[in-house]
Amino acid sequence: MEASKKEIVKGKGKILFEKDIAIATIRSPLEGFKLVQQKIERRYDPLLKIPSRINALRAERVKQATLPGENFEANLQKIVEASSKKCFFCSNFLKQSTPKFPEELALEERISIGEIIVFPNLFVFSQNHAVVTLGSKHFTNLPDFSPAIWRDAILGSIKYFKAVYKLNPELKFPSINFNFLPPSASSIIHPHIQIILDDKPTYLTDLLLTKSLDYYNATTTPETKGRNYWLDLLESEKELDQRFITENDFMTWTATFSPIGKDELTGIIKIPKTDITKFSDEEVGALAEELVQVFRALYHGRGVTAVNMALYCGPINESLEKFYRLNLRIISRPTLMPNYTNDTGFMELLHREPIAAASPEMIARDVRKHLKS
Ligand SMILES: [Zn+2]
Repeated sequence: MEASKKEIVKGKGKILFEKDIAIATIRSPLEGFKLVQQKIERRYDPLLKIPSRINALRAERVKQATLPGENFEANLQKIVEASSKKCFFCSNFLKQSTPKFPEELALEERISIGEIIVFPNLFVFSQNHAVVTLGSKHFTNLPDFSPAIWRDAILGSIKYFKAVYKLNPELKFPSINFNFLPPSASSIIHPHIQIILDDKPTYLTDLLLTKSLDYYNATTTPETKGRNYWLDLLESEKELDQRFITENDFMTWTATFSPIGKDELTGIIKIPKTDITKFSDEEVGALAEELVQVFRALYHGRGVTAVNMALYCGPINESLEKFYRLNLRIISRPTLMPNYTNDTGFMELLHREPIAAASPEMIARDVRKHLKS
């Protein structure tokens, strides 16, 4: 049995696509207990060095599920119908059941643009944590969103970020996040995004910003100095043409080389702006158009029905375009099941910050009671 072998593909600048490749040998019951070999790849994200594991054989098996499962439509219909009877995000209940902004923000009670409404989250996990409904309709399926809804939702988010930032410029790290359907940890069926603005970046945002700056400052050789990781990444993926999906003047999409979730796509916004509040209406419209098209492609191409997404923004009022670009990750989640909500959402998976449902002190108290001391 040999140790794993390293495979490195060189990209632009300092980019390296690194894999450790190992072979596992088993006598498989699926093939009359003959010796069967399986290839396992341990891949490393070129910037963050976070590892992931890929077994090509396992990946092949998933191929059977490229369309939403046969029970998906039936389960969806049941869940949508049951949840529509009393939905806090539908217009008839929204006004009486969702929080309003405090006066100090100098906003309306709730921000409303077109069909979308922005209001504070009821149970926050950030000092500034708001919800944006994606339309007045109780449910829209992943491939059916309109670009106008997403454009207005992002414009509403920007308005909120600006209001908080104006009140306190130390609150400058925004992110826009999406849990879609209960398998993604969304407890409310009515589609919505969650937007947060903190005085510190999330763990993963911080890592992205710090490592992107390190990459820019690398002084190993003249040709690797002063380069932008994100522009190098998209050029590398385009040239290698294995994970590259599509691009236009605004954005590039690839499948992530070393993913942190399933069916993971990376979207890189090419325009030299790292502060989302500086985006023009047209640029917000372009982002909305891209998202809607990619959700549709994931649904039809990979049978993806539930997703988490996070958009990793730079700080407000700072120009980091020398070394950073806004980027986002979309990952798929398991298929829909009745009476089940997953407990792991965008914060745990895409920001690497677990949210605890109970405090450790409370857990200790409850467990202690049942143990002899
Ligand atoms: Zn609703």
